[in-house]
Amino acid sequence: MSRLLPIAKRGEPILQQRAQEVTDIHDPTIQALIDDMLTTMLEAGGIGIAAPQVFISQRIIIVASRPNPRYPDAPLMEPVAMLNPEILWLSADTCTGWEGCLSVPDARAPVPRANNLRLRYLTRWGESVETEYTGFIARIIQHECDHLDGILFPERVGDKQKIVSEAEFQQVSRARE
Ligand code: ZN
Repeated sequence: MSRLLPIAKRGEPILQQRAQEVTDIHDPTIQALIDDMLTTMLEAGGIGIAAPQVFISQRIIIVASRPNPRYPDAPLMEPVAMLNPEILWLSADTCTGWEGCLSVPDARAPVPRANNLRLRYLTRWGESVETEYTGFIARIIQHECDHLDGILFPERVGDKQKIVSEAEFQQVSRARE
């Protein structure tokens, strides 16, 4: 049975630290952690989560884009757990898109991110994968990998006046439709 884990909120020191490499992928506690992260992310309406967000300093992220009330336009994918992810290449071309974060509740901001990236990671079964991602999924990966290096998305926003509340964001996104 997977468990709901507490989510670290901005101000917790673990969110500002570099997380440790996973050394033993087959450790049952690592496998249970991945299941618990997935359950916690789904319950909170997230589309990605990183282990430091549940108070575990390990280099594990889950990327799970899907349309939901917080991200109505997100593409649908099967959730993928990525261990020790390494961004090998970021495209020079960037785009700006709205982000939020389970650890920064009630804040949204437009964040510039590379359009494309090349990533190497280990699957939860220990298989090494190297692949390219684009668009919104590349954005989630950059956001989650930032968590592993102690960076929260507001730090990526040059003009802090652009950070808005969830309610303001909902108004902006409705106005676009
Ligand atoms: Zn986040």
